[in-house]
Amino acid sequence: MAENVGIVYLVGAGPGDPGLLTRRGEALLKLADVVVYDHLASSRLLDLAPKTARLICAGKSIGHNIMPQGAINELLAEHAKAGRTVVRLKGGDPYVFGRGAEEAEYLRHSGVPFQVVPGVTAAVGVTAYAGVPVTHRDAASAVAFVTGHNDPEASSAQGRLDWAALAAFPGTLVVYMGVTRLESICKTLVRLGKPATTPAALVEAGTLPRQRTVSGTLTNLHERVAEAGLGPPALLVVGEVVSRRPALCWFENLPLFGQRIVVTRPRSEAEPSAATLESIGAEVLIAPTVEIRPLESYEELDRAIGRLTEFHWLVFTSANGVESFLERLDLLGRDVRALGHLKLAAIGPATARALGRFHLKADLIPDSFRSEDLAEALRPHALGGRVLLARADRGRTVLKDELERIAHVEQVTVYRNTDADALPAAVVARIEQGSLDWITLTSSAITERLHSLLTESARARIGREIRLASLSPVTSETARRLGWNVAAEAKVYTWEGLVEAIVEVVTTERANMSAQG
Ligand code: SAH
Repeated sequence: MAENVGIVYLVGAGPGDPGLLTRRGEALLKLADVVVYDHLASSRLLDLAPKTARLICAGKSIGHNIMPQGAINELLAEHAKAGRTVVRLKGGDPYVFGRGAEEAEYLRHSGVPFQVVPGVTAAVGVTAYAGVPVTHRDAASAVAFVTGHNDPEASSAQGRLDWAALAAFPGTLVVYMGVTRLESICKTLVRLGKPATTPAALVEAGTLPRQRTVSGTLTNLHERVAEAGLGPPALLVVGEVVSRRPALCWFENLPLFGQRIVVTRPRSEAEPSAATLESIGAEVLIAPTVEIRPLESYEELDRAIGRLTEFHWLVFTSANGVESFLERLDLLGRDVRALGHLKLAAIGPATARALGRFHLKADLIPDSFRSEDLAEALRPHALGGRVLLARADRGRTVLKDELERIAHVEQVTVYRNTDADALPAAVVARIEQGSLDWITLTSSAITERLHSLLTESARARIGREIRLASLSPVTSETARRLGWNVAAEAKVYTWEGLVEAIVEVVTTERANMSAQG
């Protein structure tokens, strides 16, 4: 065996919501050279892998491999033997109906080291998001995880499950892979003695924005499911605990439940922005249209830092500006004391928070967060003074132009905005299919770049089925100039304001729909 043999991590991805990956799973994904994944509910997990990592899809949908199991086993072993760190990302938990054990056994047999990172299995995650507690002091003191893969009515030895024992089981039954045999499973349980009135529910695509739940009893569930047209992946839950759902349902009631939203900000900002949306029920796809990069030359910035004593105000128009400036200061062997004599202005709360991370407080934040408003707020304070403006290499010059009328202004570039070469293929496909609800626009540059990265047919969908949410009137104006309607505009020009604007539109629509229906 090669000396530098790698390792395979069998990592549970959780049932769908990317937030349900474990911390260890995340840490390993970030180190991966190769990721071999099954059906993945969320491309957001693959975003965690390094850009250079090789991503290999081994399965199209839950439980149905496009690659035979033997081929997957060999693939894992080969990459590890070539010295690579391999993450084998599997839905739910790797060892719960996931063939994870077969992969681990093969690796052991091949002399390849492996480790297992458990995941939130569907029986626990999907039920919790559907408002069904799998155990309850008053209703169930045991729970059984069962596969519904084999037909319980079939007489062959293939159906190795003892359905009579399951019918008598004193607790909750959770059936994986049971949707295609739903009727047969329910009927068998009743025939073997489970009360026909036992509550039961089927949850499709649990923990995902497209989660759907149908509940009933062992007698009528299959009809209701057929009517609603539920299909795989779906989980069946049988037991008294299902009757707790009306009181415990929470996920399906979140303000942005089911909304599919694209975040177009630079990657470093997109992650926290996505988290805000996901925490209120949205599915988020990240498609950076611009990226933030370090400067090619630091000459100009270093010179400005060397002359800080000449200025009265230091003005920041973005969190990136703050971070880039202070990191450079640090690299030059200086620290925040170099700013001690300066007044600090921040364009808005996110920029002020970035200052806060360096234990600096903004002396001035305008009431409204556009360049015009910052210039207006600064005017009385900066009159006749010397102002240093730290900014990106491109963007509007309004602030400088306005301030120049009253103060001596110098601007210095602290980071670069570069255009992304392309949007992620998965996002382009979703735009072209129209299977998205919103795209967020947080600046004019982002809006323009998005426009230029799209094909004509994709552009045509935007502003119609796929709606636009904009951070400010300036950004909205850019979108309109490009021929796009804007459906939601932030009242307060922050990311939180933008999210609020989407929530308002969605809430109003839902209220109207339920009034009509
Ligand atoms: N290892 C996985 C299970 C793989 S078997 C785990 O631990 O969860 C695949 C079955 O899991 C599906 O047929 C379905 O019954 C269930 N399942 C997985 N994810 C699901 C989801 N998001 N919603 C509903 N059922 C899901």
